[in-house]
Amino acid sequence: MISKSLIYILVVYLALKSFGIMQDKGKFLIKVFDVGQGDAILIRTPENKLIVIDGGPDFEADRHIDKEFLINNCRVDLIILTHPHSDHIKSLNRLLERCSVGSVVYNPVEYKSRVYSRWKDNIEGVKVTLLEAGDVLKVGSARLVVVWPTEIGKDNDNINNSSVSILLDYKDFEALFLGDLEKEASRKIDTYLLDKYIDGSLEIYKVPHHGSKDAHNLDLITYLNPKTCILSVGLDNKFNHPDEQAIIDMEELGCEVRRTDQEGTIEVLIKRR
Ligand SMILES: [Zn+2]
Repeated sequence: MISKSLIYILVVYLALKSFGIMQDKGKFLIKVFDVGQGDAILIRTPENKLIVIDGGPDFEADRHIDKEFLINNCRVDLIILTHPHSDHIKSLNRLLERCSVGSVVYNPVEYKSRVYSRWKDNIEGVKVTLLEAGDVLKVGSARLVVVWPTEIGKDNDNINNSSVSILLDYKDFEALFLGDLEKEASRKIDTYLLDKYIDGSLEIYKVPHHGSKDAHNLDLITYLNPKTCILSVGLDNKFNHPDEQAIIDMEELGCEVRRTDQEGTIEVLIKRR
């Protein structure tokens, strides 16, 4: 039998948890979850719309996202799958299976894997929007500008280069999420598109492909001059991510480097009138 004091503790805990979430309400929030070697990002608009970009290599992201549902009732407004590699997709399947999902954005490339097949089964009956560079999606007061791919569903030798890449624009705050896009693709991003939406310099550069050498595009970072460079990367991962020189370059350019392997989940609260 559950004792009265245990129930009391539970009620107090839930009240405090909800108070914490309520305090943040009305502010723009980005969380880059610590999911080890992989990507899972949550964006919450001031209107309490939830956007999830990628779902990590396991169900850790699902557990993180679940904490947001105290006031969201298991609803995600938009899910973006950048590309079907297993370190980006797992928790998205769980979300699609257990929550209500407003719509889904992905690049329907050919790729054989069980989790990707499951994803395709799961999105049946969900509104699917296929977007390419130049398309803009509004979610609450956030504007999501697609900067990649230039061609939907195009076969790539390297599936990383099919990554749906998004510039998040909220008032004069902008953040760039490039999935695992390698340099050979990111150098083809239309800078006119970026210039059109970025006020001044970029606030957040979500470093593509966990800081790998092949994704390190020094020209792009120099051009964008981001204030903060965020890496989602697993501690002591077998790929030797991130590349040492990439980190040095970012620091030399004055970008504050933040890494999930060093500080866990990274949270950014944006206050704008
Ligand atoms: Zn990855």
